[in-house]
Amino acid sequence: MTDSVTAKITGQHFINGAWTGEANAFNSLDPVENAKLDWQFASASQRDIDNAAKSAKSAFVQYRAKTPAQRADFLDAIANELEAGIEAITYAANRESGLPMARVQGETGRTCNQLRLFAGTLREPLEPKFVDLANPDRAPLPKADTRLSVLPIGPVAVFGASNFPLAFSTAGGDTASALAAGCPVIVKGHPAHPATSELVTRAIEKAIIACDMPAGVFSLVQGAAPQVSTDLVTHSAIKAVGFTGSLRVGRILADLCAARGEPIPFYGELGSTNPQFLLNSMLSANAEQMAQTQVQSMMMGHGQFCTSPGVVVAVKGSALNRYIATMAENIAALPASAMLTPGIAATYQAQVEALLKDTSVELVAQGQSAQASHLTKPTAVRVNADDYLTTPELQQEVFGPCAVIVECDDEAQMLNIATELEGQLTATIHGHEAELAENQQLIEAVAFNVGRIIFNQMPTGVEVCHSMNHGGPYPASTDSRTTSVGSQAMKRFERPICYQNMPASLLPDELKSSSSKIISF
Ligand code: NAP
Repeated sequence: MTDSVTAKITGQHFINGAWTGEANAFNSLDPVENAKLDWQFASASQRDIDNAAKSAKSAFVQYRAKTPAQRADFLDAIANELEAGIEAITYAANRESGLPMARVQGETGRTCNQLRLFAGTLREPLEPKFVDLANPDRAPLPKADTRLSVLPIGPVAVFGASNFPLAFSTAGGDTASALAAGCPVIVKGHPAHPATSELVTRAIEKAIIACDMPAGVFSLVQGAAPQVSTDLVTHSAIKAVGFTGSLRVGRILADLCAARGEPIPFYGELGSTNPQFLLNSMLSANAEQMAQTQVQSMMMGHGQFCTSPGVVVAVKGSALNRYIATMAENIAALPASAMLTPGIAATYQAQVEALLKDTSVELVAQGQSAQASHLTKPTAVRVNADDYLTTPELQQEVFGPCAVIVECDDEAQMLNIATELEGQLTATIHGHEAELAENQQLIEAVAFNVGRIIFNQMPTGVEVCHSMNHGGPYPASTDSRTTSVGSQAMKRFERPICYQNMPASLLPDELKSSSSKIISF
């Protein structure tokens, strides 16, 4: 398989329908072996970024004129081409990310489902358009005919995420939703999986040709230097950015977008600790099984999920002690594993070391010793609620298989933690219906700090559907009004437009349609 995949990889950028650049800047890495792979890649110059941005700007004029049905066919064609190329794509993704083959195969399916969800939404819009009919006889002033629709915002820069090399990367949710909205896309390939990005781009290239789309509708620029990213988000042709990654880099890029001559929206999904609130009666009845479920969830993808449950909050007592004992037993049996990149592994190790140095923190358990320095051990620690509340470092996300158990004196202290929480993508409350009813204040406090409030289920696994919200108050995301998963993600790349008194024959199709919501008063 290696040879046949290597034969397909040039290591170049894909700009305006052509493969370009010299593949001599960086190699992909095998994170399991901690060794370079043979695949070499180019790093985009300012000129490459300029070419990609200008081609996206010129493609925008043709692409926005495509009908929703034509855009839907394009998204379906990308999904079909991904399926046709799945063997090579999943091989590369497995080698570059270290994620198991079954996981990357499943993720490819999810990526295709996302593309098809947006295609379906384009064919059958979920929401009516609003049409206010004219009323020339209204007193004291006549009422004009006004109709509300949307326009695509313009070329979008997308940053692929390291932890989902398919579903949150080159043809992932940000790209699918921007293309669905009518926006050309430039992907900055994540340096943790450049070969995967190239193979996915080859699938998109086939779909561009088959669907007769403008060449600049999609570009891929590779790079392993921050300048590539900063050149891209500051280019005047870029009108919005979709990003999944760290708070640190997300904040740098968000500030650059805000400081531009023309500020543009930056949609950053920046991670979360996804607290688990365990209510007493549920915990007493199920402590051992809940601890096992917690460990299974925090070990998915070796903890490298933005929805990984990194904090557990419960009231001290014998039930919590049983929970902690089972968690300790389960974690102690786990092997050390590779992470997505050596950099992510080093950050994880440094964060765990810092936690263990804190005198208020007690180690609950760690996984088995690592055979090599780049392999990391799952970890659980416990801390008193007072110390947790007064130490911001303890509240930070540790990206990886780590959980902080916060021990409260009583339910009032639990409520205090929920109230003081930083913005989160998710939080779960585990409780019987009767005790949930007695904890309405907790539910309300949690809801105001999260994008998705979950009851009696773990947060890992984000359904791709119309009612999903994957976002949340800062720092979980940079815009709590939007989601990066589900059909509503498209709205990030559209803007409203009102047509007033437009001759009926010239109106856009969606405003003529009988599905419009007619308001007449
Ligand atoms: P990252 O460091 O945030 O990098 C994301 C993207 O930003 C990459 O394309 C990277 O490309 C670019 N970048 C890095 N440093 C930059 C800088 N100074 N200026 C401009 N662009 C820069 O994410 P990562 O490498 O995937 O993982 C690192 C950490 O991010 C993890 O430890 C974790 O905490 C967090 N993370 C969060 C999520 C989430 O779901 N929210 C997902 C993955 C990772 P270059 O390296 O080529 O510059």
